[in-house]
Amino acid sequence: MRIVLLGAPGAGKGTQAEKISEIVKIPHISTGDILRSEIKRGTPLGKKADEYVRKGTLVPDEVIIEIIRGEINRGGSKDGFLLDGFPRNLKQAAILSNMMNELGLKLNKVVNIVVNSDEAVKRLSSRRICINCKRIYRFNNSQSGNINRCPKCGGKLIKRKDDNIDVIKKRLEIYESETKPLINYYRDKGLLININGTGTEQEITERILKQL
Ligand code: AMP
Repeated sequence: MRIVLLGAPGAGKGTQAEKISEIVKIPHISTGDILRSEIKRGTPLGKKADEYVRKGTLVPDEVIIEIIRGEINRGGSKDGFLLDGFPRNLKQAAILSNMMNELGLKLNKVVNIVVNSDEAVKRLSSRRICINCKRIYRFNNSQSGNINRCPKCGGKLIKRKDDNIDVIKKRLEIYESETKPLINYYRDKGLLININGTGTEQEITERILKQL
């Protein structure tokens, strides 16, 4: 099964992608995770991407396309994948479509997780990520000072650099102008499933699984 996960920053794509890819047994490809890892390792690609990620703007398409081409051509991804954070604009969607045609592959579903922007801002500003197991947590202000370790694996919890209010606003603006048009694009192709992104993680996972 080949799935694209859409949704505003803060919709819960990363959390749901982890769960769905585990249950459906397909690789989870997150362009954001790949970029953060390249940036952390200081690779040439990471150096190119750093200032864009830091500002909350989109990394140039040609950089992202190279990442995706490599991932989709990788052995384990030919039979299925879950794309999280890609495509992010209509040009990337067109390139993905060409790439899949060349490989004789088809997308099965595009899952659009819907939350309102107030909720997205609230979630992003309270988000902490485990650097070890990558689990995502949300803590309110009074809790966040005390909780520094992942309750599951004990790894250090960090706040993403782009989860500060100015960058969050920029990311939401970019989502509205660049990424939201993908909803109509995939609706017209008959691939779109809208999922209410409010509720517990488990509820949202069940809603998605029911529609796949
Ligand atoms: P994410 O983890 O999906 O929220 O992505 C974090 C940041 O990585 C974004 O704000 C962008 O700067 C960059 N990024 C991730 N995916 C893409 C993409 N498909 N196209 C361009 N930039 C991206």
